[in-house]
Amino acid sequence: MRLEDTIAFITGSARGIGREIAETFAKEGALVLISDINAEAAQKTAEEFVQKGYKADHASCNVTNSADVEQCVDKILAKYGRIDILVNNAGITKDNLFIRMKEEDWDAVIAVNLKGTFNASKSVSKAMLKARKGKMINIASVIGVMGNAGQANYAASKAGVIALTKSLAREFASRSINVNAVAPGYIKTDMTDKLSEDVKNKILENVPLGRMGLPLDVANVCLFLASKESDYVTGQTILVDGGMVMY
Ligand code: NDP
Repeated sequence: MRLEDTIAFITGSARGIGREIAETFAKEGALVLISDINAEAAQKTAEEFVQKGYKADHASCNVTNSADVEQCVDKILAKYGRIDILVNNAGITKDNLFIRMKEEDWDAVIAVNLKGTFNASKSVSKAMLKARKGKMINIASVIGVMGNAGQANYAASKAGVIALTKSLAREFASRSINVNAVAPGYIKTDMTDKLSEDVKNKILENVPLGRMGLPLDVANVCLFLASKESDYVTGQTILVDGGMVMY
């Protein structure tokens, strides 16, 4: 049990990659706090986990709203006393070519992906700084490293997450808080199921490992970053992209 006796708060974890991360952590003994903008869905996921014999509870918030996030974190701390692991996973896309991109689509993506990561990190960091330990894991994207036509808002938000990760890693290192990012490539989820077969085949031409990733591929790297095995790793961005980007 690599996460025995730990408490993990995972944003956007009612479904998709966040849910897989939560389940992977729970299998390793963590108590997982399922959090989502859709509180009902988060509660359902937490209940399913409890039925499977995992330690789980739900604590929902909209990551774009700092007061809502603060309240949610305070409730967790009042009930459980600490948060050992934070995974900033909640994320959205609103793709369009830059020339057609609406200001509101720019703002919405930055608000969830970047400001949301700021909000949750800010609320959780106070408790971690006091405890003088913690693991923060930010879900970025390979797009934040390489850019992508039609995803200027998403790429900028995820590049921001990577830079935020490095800055927090430097600020929090003296208190034994590790801050790292995971940058997935193309992962089989609802987000990518919408792509046409044509687009998927084009993408795969640039993936040396020749397949789309699975949520578990991302969750396994998060597990390493959440565990003691990564105690000497901070400020890093680990790409889980089948080799799309090598540097
Ligand atoms: P999904 O859309 O499947 O899941 C995202 C979750 O975040 C949903 O449960 C969603 O809730 C929730 N969410 C959305 N907005 C908010 C908000 N404001 N506050 C709290 N929760 C919110 O996405 P994925 O699982 O595919 O992606 C997870 C993360 O991985 C994202 O950060 C994404 O950018 C990143 N990623 C994904 C890749 C992929 O190929 N799938 C590739 C690279 C990175 P609801 O369902 O109610 O909208």
